[in-house]
Amino acid sequence: MPIRTGQEYIDSLRGRKLKVYLFGELVRDCVDHPIIRPSINAVAETYDLAESEAGLATARSPLTGAPVNRFLHIAESAQDLVLQNKMQRRLGQKTGTCFQRCVGMDALNSLHSTTFEIDEKHGTNYHGRLLDFIRAVQEENQVIGGAMTDPKGDRSKGPSEQADPDLFTHVVERDEKGVYVSGAKAHQTGCLNSHWIVIMPTMRLTENDRDWAVVGAFPADAEGLTYVYGRQSCDTRSMEEGDIDAGNAKYGGQEALIILDRVFIPWERVFMLGEYEFASMLVERFTCYHRRSYVCKTGLGDVLIGAAGAIADYNGVPGASHIRDKLVEMTHLNETIYAAGVASSHQAHGLKSGAFINDDMLAQVCKHNVTRFPYEIGRLAQDIAGGLVVTLPSERDFRHPEAGPLLRKYLAGRKGVDVENRMRILRLIENMTMGRNAVGYLTESMHGAGSPQAQRIQIQRQMQLGYKKNLAKNLAGVRGDEGQDSPPAEPSEYFKRVFGVGDGGR
Ligand SMILES: Cc1cc2nc3c(=O)[nH]c(=O)nc-3n(C[C@H](O)[C@H](O)[C@H](O)COP(=O)(O)OP(=O)(O)OC[C@H]3O[C@@H](n4cnc5c(N)ncnc54)[C@H](O)[C@@H]3O)c2cc1C
Repeated sequence: MPIRTGQEYIDSLRGRKLKVYLFGELVRDCVDHPIIRPSINAVAETYDLAESEAGLATARSPLTGAPVNRFLHIAESAQDLVLQNKMQRRLGQKTGTCFQRCVGMDALNSLHSTTFEIDEKHGTNYHGRLLDFIRAVQEENQVIGGAMTDPKGDRSKGPSEQADPDLFTHVVERDEKGVYVSGAKAHQTGCLNSHWIVIMPTMRLTENDRDWAVVGAFPADAEGLTYVYGRQSCDTRSMEEGDIDAGNAKYGGQEALIILDRVFIPWERVFMLGEYEFASMLVERFTCYHRRSYVCKTGLGDVLIGAAGAIADYNGVPGASHIRDKLVEMTHLNETIYAAGVASSHQAHGLKSGAFINDDMLAQVCKHNVTRFPYEIGRLAQDIAGGLVVTLPSERDFRHPEAGPLLRKYLAGRKGVDVENRMRILRLIENMTMGRNAVGYLTESMHGAGSPQAQRIQIQRQMQLGYKKNLAKNLAGVRGDEGQDSPPAEPSEYFKRVFGVGDGGR
């Protein structure tokens, strides 16, 4: 039976044999562990949304002929990509955290076109295998974890140059049944909450890196896997009594280090093996999809702007001009992120496999904005909140027979405002700007899908300075310095596609 609801999804995670370390101990039950459960609840929302808002969170699959969860659908049009963005924002609004499914969605989409083009060149059959895999997970309605980032060791060296070959995941053996891989994947979002892990190379590879050029899928509870759960700021608050101090008691994100010790991948789940020259295509297409997937953070931004507005009300200053202006600034920054992401999706084009991909330049701009604006939005939220956001006593003090009434008296805000409500909003702001969900809202915004410099490199590659210099020289009437410019001043594919330059204004 396919998984349908959030509750069925939660139940599907029970009874698996996962080797997970958390706080120096093996975790016996992930599903009901107080630190892990909020992250499972966040993924469960992706199932419930598909039930309650099917137009947004499902799409008809050409593989099964039936509606499937949009996180498992291959984009067939610009509209599909736009709907991904709308769904991501909606889920950010509902959970206030990372709901962990975008990496898998973007991995399947980038693999669709990359496997097609590998087959075209090498006569392999990766694309057919991938379609079989996608059909199977669509039918079962399962969660895919996209594992790209290797630990990487010395950042100035490639995989085959590292002192320890395992610092990048690689093939260690092949036999008639499949391949065996060892190594690790770092910072893996939602990996324990996934049914399948798809491993992919993390960077451009050379001929010496053939053994590292491997893409394949295996169940999240495959033999040979060890997970070490990542700590998050203030995570043990989820183990305390009460639900105020956690800030967002129901939802959280999840990252873990996955260690692979000779993990087996059968041939039918191997989607690249040795075609090192396609690693850069895969990484670039994945990051193109994924960098505009970061519009999810605008859903979190909506929550934080709402929290800042609410605390201003509670403090009695909702009409102050600088408060209103700060809320306007927060909204402007948030919508700027969304604008670039959704524009990138609107400017999509088709690839040889039939999959659609969003515009790369605008995806880079979206993600680059995400590396900055949530920090500024968070700063403004803390400004509006006041110092209590970091000096607020605990819920236990609030419930104490002697201290509690004192807190109710001295932490009062505007007349008629319940002090507990004021505390709850302050804790939510703390949670998103320096607690558990600051992982998803701030630092993931910085590094997820690549650190800021990765976007600047892509922007530089596509910025067409020569072409722009010519525009200026033409208008200024500059003559006689032809050939001074390198590179050539022809408009790039980006300009042609987005602005219609040189192709009649498409
Ligand atoms: C919360 C979170 C969730 C994530 N989820 C996932 C996930 O689900 N799946 C996944 O695959 N990955 C995931 N990532 C990983 C993410 O893609 C990486 O963090 C990112 O690519 C940066 O890699 P790094 O963390 O190793 O940092 P580093 O690569 O060490 O970067 C640190 C700094 O060094 C610079 N630097 C790095 N290499 C060089 C170089 N060769 N030359 C010059 N400067 C360099 C960078 O620009 C940066 O400023 C996640 C990350 C975070 C923080």
